[in-house]
Amino acid sequence: MKYNFASGPAALPQEVINDIICGINNFKDSKLSILETYHRSAEFIHILENAKHTLKRLLAISDDYEVLFLHGGASLQFLMIPYNFLDAKEYAAFIDTGLWSQKAILQAKQFGNAMVIASSKDSNYKYIPKNFNLEDKDYKYLYLCSNNSVYGTAWHHYPETRVPIVADMTSDLLTKQININQFKLVYASLQKNLGVAGAAVVIINKNFLDKFQVKRCTLDMLNFKTHISSASIYNTPPIFPISVAYLMLNWIEKKGGITFFQDDNLKKATYLYKYIDNSNIFFNDVDKNDRSTTNIVFNIKGKISEQDFIDFANRCNCVGIQGHRSVKGFRVALYNAVSYESVKHLVDAMSQYEKTII
Ligand code: PMP
Repeated sequence: MKYNFASGPAALPQEVINDIICGINNFKDSKLSILETYHRSAEFIHILENAKHTLKRLLAISDDYEVLFLHGGASLQFLMIPYNFLDAKEYAAFIDTGLWSQKAILQAKQFGNAMVIASSKDSNYKYIPKNFNLEDKDYKYLYLCSNNSVYGTAWHHYPETRVPIVADMTSDLLTKQININQFKLVYASLQKNLGVAGAAVVIINKNFLDKFQVKRCTLDMLNFKTHISSASIYNTPPIFPISVAYLMLNWIEKKGGITFFQDDNLKKATYLYKYIDNSNIFFNDVDKNDRSTTNIVFNIKGKISEQDFIDFANRCNCVGIQGHRSVKGFRVALYNAVSYESVKHLVDAMSQYEKTII
């Protein structure tokens, strides 16, 4: 057995993999594979509607919001959001917490004034900026990335502001309680806690869309309204990622919902951080108040080779722990599908390695 700690595409629960295999062979007893199922069939519409409703139930999302499943992963949202909400003369405020927010900033600059109002670049993104001014301009929205999978930081309290908040929740949606009402738009790539890569879920406040959408939106595929009016089936939707998201959502609900996973994720993260903080060779230098519970980064002290530890971990069947290529070091994803037992196995491997070094 392999213990998969990859940050994405990420580990899937074995039950969900088994259900996927069944669906590929014979989808809901139709004698057809899910991969060849017509996207307007009653079977697929059931999957799509059930996925939306299960997500709404799990996160207590009110009817003021629409839920969309769209092609293009989270990266398409980097540009789709400013395309819909930022005009050339308008301002949007961005908090720069590293790579994923920077990608969003670069895209937003193509459409309007994307202003970086705070950044933790000075410390190589080891903390979440807390001091910023949202009053100096009439900002259309405030953009932030709730969990920074490359640097292991996360927002634990969101800004209280009258400015509408838009959040990339790719790496922590469904891992803990969030109050969706604090946001006007939330999106997440499906590849972390909702299954496989290639698509994203977008939760969008209808009133925000009606009042704040810019006039320019003539490109149908990029217009949120196109997808709302066709209930996520404007063109052939990504049926496989959506079907896996449906299975993941039902698995999350069956396991006990967000309450269960919030506790479980905290328990996993606390266990790993405690080991790292007491280790003689590993360290984590993220501001303790801003540490992520879903992506834990760490480094190795002195001249010990990173590759040597990665090879050792691989021999212990722990895979996917290498840091993002832009920062190196190590990174362990503790998404919902990663069990507490897997984390214990990793910590055992780390402490065995530590004994071989000291
Ligand atoms: N935002 C965050 C926080 C991410 O971690 C990632 C992917 N790792 C993305 C956006 C981009 O997602 P995708 O590759 O599915 O477009």
